[in-house]
Amino acid sequence: MVRILVRGLSKFFASRAVLEDVSLSVEPGETLVVLGPSGAGKSTLLRCVAGLSPFDAGEVQVNSWVLRPGAQGLSAGAALRQRVGFIFQDFGLFPHKRAWENVALAPRLVRKLEAETAREQALELLAKVGLAARAEAYPHQLSGGEKQRVAIARALAMAPAALLGDEITSSLDPELKWEVVETLLRLKGEGLTLLLVTHEVGLARQVADRVLLLVEGKVVEEGPTQTLLSRPRTPRGQQFLSRLL
Ligand code: ADP
Ligand code: MG
Repeated sequence: MVRILVRGLSKFFASRAVLEDVSLSVEPGETLVVLGPSGAGKSTLLRCVAGLSPFDAGEVQVNSWVLRPGAQGLSAGAALRQRVGFIFQDFGLFPHKRAWENVALAPRLVRKLEAETAREQALELLAKVGLAARAEAYPHQLSGGEKQRVAIARALAMAPAALLGDEITSSLDPELKWEVVETLLRLKGEGLTLLLVTHEVGLARQVADRVLLLVEGKVVEEGPTQTLLSRPRTPRGQQFLSRLL
């Protein structure tokens, strides 16, 4: 079980702060959705938590792995990324590899699984995201929702204890979003810790236990999903949600 803690995280691009004193926690088995407008710093925050980008102040803690400011602070990042899966908005699938090969790749290379074992595991994971019949397909033969589910299966292939997702439904047509949401709800049911960032209130409403609003790099408010989305307390929160609802 994984707990994610972010304390006082700040990050600057040139001299401009894109994240300012951001703190959050995701309890084991909990789903936190960080919601905010475009440019709020959501992707940057997620990359910092994943150990993919350095930051300037604060601390990220995922179980016993601690990331500290600066490039050296990422040294725990490689170990952390073996236990934490990361899903991007644009799927990031290898176009010349079949669905199952995309899923089997990291277990082969990083965990040194035998080819046949990795293939069997990949087929099981594709079945789990409802894609057993599409295992031999190449990415260009899959719909957006299918590609995103392959990306989820690929993240699951490393047996992560937590999944981080960046706008994972944003590029999908409304009817395809549901396929991904359903998959997320199933994983949630299995106790996976989820940290998702999005500008989509719908995703937050469907999967979040708690929501944190991020505006201009700052945490504006946070709370249980229903309460926060229906009765935001702060003017910034009210402003953001009123523009969307
Ligand atoms: P979001 O994901 O919420 O849309 P981002 O984290 O992508 O926001 O970006 C937050 C801010 O940081 C934006 O103003 C963006 O232009 C800026 N930014 C992101 N990446 C870089 C970079 N590599 N260099 C300079 N500025 C960046
Ligand atoms: Mg983004």
